[in-house]
Amino acid sequence: MTFKINPEIKLAIKREDVESTKVKVRDVLVGGEKIVVIAGPCSVESREQLLSIARSVKASGASMLRGGAFKPRTLPYSFQGLGLDGLKLLAEARDETGLPVVTEVMAPEDVVVVEEYADVLQIGARNMQNFPLLKRVGEASRPVMLKRGISATIEEWLSSAEYVLAEGNEDVIMCERGIRTFEKLTRFTLDLTAVPLLKELSHLPVIVDPSHGTGVRALVMPMAKASVAAGADGLLVEVHPRPEEAKSDGEQSLRPNEFQSLIEDLRPLALAVGRTL
Ligand code: PEP
Ligand code: MN
Repeated sequence: MTFKINPEIKLAIKREDVESTKVKVRDVLVGGEKIVVIAGPCSVESREQLLSIARSVKASGASMLRGGAFKPRTLPYSFQGLGLDGLKLLAEARDETGLPVVTEVMAPEDVVVVEEYADVLQIGARNMQNFPLLKRVGEASRPVMLKRGISATIEEWLSSAEYVLAEGNEDVIMCERGIRTFEKLTRFTLDLTAVPLLKELSHLPVIVDPSHGTGVRALVMPMAKASVAAGADGLLVEVHPRPEEAKSDGEQSLRPNEFQSLIEDLRPLALAVGRTL
């Protein structure tokens, strides 16, 4: 292997005799030929908001719905999410649209309730090295989407995946969501190198989140295209019908019609790299 990495990372690393991992979420396969687009609001805000987004992203061709019920916010005064009510709304949206649901879990003691309602457990960037949480989701019955920490190296990120795998949960999806650099015009710097690098090092599927990775609506589409070109297995995109009224991350959220254009523009690109969408 070209890259030197801690030899103690064993389970997350590619082995000649092990095929690349495909994570099955209900009828959706992450890591197969089809590029999986996961879309939804940053926060679940209301029944009307979530259901309208779920219907429109489904009609546009999204494969999964994502919305936050437990929100990691920098300040304690910011909207913290609807909690259990948000989980119930997500399950209702899944029942209506058939889209599997992804949502963040922030505390080990919440895993039991989140896995009751959600299909994929998101570990947020700020919790990438919350080791008790990683161990707990490693025992869970649901796949885990592991976001990269904002200042985590690829080796640290793979080490965190190792925590989940070591507990017996083999279904880990890696999500590149941007890292902190000196640049101030974007919220983070989307490290697309992570995609081919992880493909080289690991058997795990890799998706990209150009919404948090840029923090800027106008940059989401070009970076989504670049992600597909770089070999991403999927995308995570924030969508809101009225971004100016969103309780979190409005500046980076696409409007439903913009999300539809994104999917349409990505299709020929996916075909060009031997994938479908
Ligand atoms: C989110 O997905 O809305 C989120 C908070 O992401 P991250 O953990 O990557 O900041
Ligand atoms: Mn967000």
